[in-house]
Amino acid sequence: MAQANAETGSAGAAPAPSAPNHAIVKGLTVGLLQENCYLFACGRTHSAVVIDPGDNARGILRTAQQSGLHIEAIINTHAHFDHVMAVAGIKAATGAPFHLHAADLPILRELPERVRLWLDTEIDPLDDPDGYLEHGQIIHVGDEELEVRFTPGHAPGHVVFVHHAGRQVFAGDTLFQGSIGRYDLPGADRDTLLQSIREQLLTLPDDYVVYPGHGPATEIGFERQNNPYVGEGQ
Ligand SMILES: [Zn+2]
Ligand SMILES: [Zn+2]
Repeated sequence: MAQANAETGSAGAAPAPSAPNHAIVKGLTVGLLQENCYLFACGRTHSAVVIDPGDNARGILRTAQQSGLHIEAIINTHAHFDHVMAVAGIKAATGAPFHLHAADLPILRELPERVRLWLDTEIDPLDDPDGYLEHGQIIHVGDEELEVRFTPGHAPGHVVFVHHAGRQVFAGDTLFQGSIGRYDLPGADRDTLLQSIREQLLTLPDDYVVYPGHGPATEIGFERQNNPYVGEGQ
């Protein structure tokens, strides 16, 4: 189930001579809903964060270990069950603190009910986060920086993480290749989602690579042109 698509450096076609990208990105597709979990790390210090550990804590930990990465924090785009099922396992193994936007607390707290509904399984509730993410916050991962942008609509406390030096964005369930996140779930809103994508994602340069929470990576410019929900032809 785990698919490790190692990817370093130059995302997209345009060179970024003034900002060499030494970050390491490793993706794993986990769980029943095929959620994309990413390890994002500094290539020099090997400090790493886990973005959206949705399932398969063991596989995520093994990937980190094989790559010599030290997991220092868990940061989530949002709290839907398919993005948080491995949070407890990663925390237990590494002691890494878990960070989430406060507006997704209600979603996190109803995790056992959601999992019962979707997976017909009983799980323990998750502890509240150790810290809260805010729009404009900069997360330091070794020498690298991730900018937090608040992008509600799919979930009330959804955020994305922009790595400007690497020209890439970890978009969770906002913008997908040729699609967008669901807006029919509790706490979701279509207009809010469209506004978030237009103002926080499509304002990024064309060559920024989008690493979504489901499905293949894409590019901002491609989606700006072709996306049936937010593309220019719509
Ligand atoms: Zn979601
Ligand atoms: Zn999802």
